[in-house]
Amino acid sequence: MSRAKNSGAARAGEMQDRLLCWFDCNKRAMPWRARAGHAPNPYHVWLSEIMLQQTTVAAVAPYFEKFVKKWPTVKKLAAADLDAVLAQWAGLGYYARARNLHACAQTIVRDYGGAFPCTVDELRALQGIGPYTAAAIASIAFDVQAVAVDGNVERVVSRLYAIETPLPRSKPDIKIRAEEIASDVTRAGDFTQAFMELGATVCTPKNPKCGLCPWQAYCKAGQAGTAARFPRKTPKAARPVRYGKVFWITDAQGRFLVHKRSGKGLYEGLYQLPTTQWTHDKDAAMRVKAPFSGLVSKGLSVRHTFTHFDVVLEIYTGVKKAHRVPVSLTGARWIYPENMGDYGLPSLMKKAIKLCMGARRLEQAAG
Ligand code: SF4
Repeated sequence: MSRAKNSGAARAGEMQDRLLCWFDCNKRAMPWRARAGHAPNPYHVWLSEIMLQQTTVAAVAPYFEKFVKKWPTVKKLAAADLDAVLAQWAGLGYYARARNLHACAQTIVRDYGGAFPCTVDELRALQGIGPYTAAAIASIAFDVQAVAVDGNVERVVSRLYAIETPLPRSKPDIKIRAEEIASDVTRAGDFTQAFMELGATVCTPKNPKCGLCPWQAYCKAGQAGTAARFPRKTPKAARPVRYGKVFWITDAQGRFLVHKRSGKGLYEGLYQLPTTQWTHDKDAAMRVKAPFSGLVSKGLSVRHTFTHFDVVLEIYTGVKKAHRVPVSLTGARWIYPENMGDYGLPSLMKKAIKLCMGARRLEQAAG
């Protein structure tokens, strides 16, 4: 082995030791983390990793606890009704994750007898598991040497090496460097979590705490005082906006109309208020007719941000005496506001409902 390779391995070994030592003293308690002396539960690791995609630890914790209480094993989750899973997921967003979660649980039970596979390749072939998640599950649940590069790891590595190439172009370089740092690590699962935890709690996007960092001696940006400049990012294009109408239709008993979204798309299989197609052409969106006559706009609208676009829906309201609904509204039903929690209503719809109920209360108070 050449001297350069030797010194690279020695440096990686030192970095691993320092990070693991720091992690042992500083790791946060999380409901899905194994207690000291206990083996990780692959079901908990998988569930938490799926929930944490695009979502924060603080937001995920109560959902995780609800899920494992209701479905304590992957077999129980596989046997659950998809509607019940979607209802428990409501509010976490990115509902394709919940549908994939349910499908994946069924695959694990059908093809693996309810025991999670432990290799990155087998995990990668399951529904809803991409390269990052497969590496995270393999290493955290099974101590496999696999480097999971999330946003936290990207930020730490970008700063360690003061990488000037902007993201996302720098991703391949970051992955290679992260693999070098993690090469031949013992305690692979702890190292994966420690790497991410360092980014989440010390090497934070704003005001990184370099003075508390176990890797300060190895960090170019930290030593130069330029951490805040990294990672470099390619400027984002302006977020596009889509427009549409949403309908709050009530009956004399105070119930409101929802229906189940059919077809492929963001809200597939979820209950929602009736809505028109969302389009970039605002004028065309406002010309689309309501499913009932007599619905009016009182100037209320709701805005929501998705990953790649914003949506603005103008709210139309009305009271119906007869309970006939147009055939276009599949799976329609009238529900009481207090029973909303039984349905997988997405956050955008909950926002619209809250606005409408607030407006109705004001109207009633005004007589
Ligand atoms: Fe991040 Fe500072 Fe540590 Fe470098 S020294 S990895 S910039 S916290």
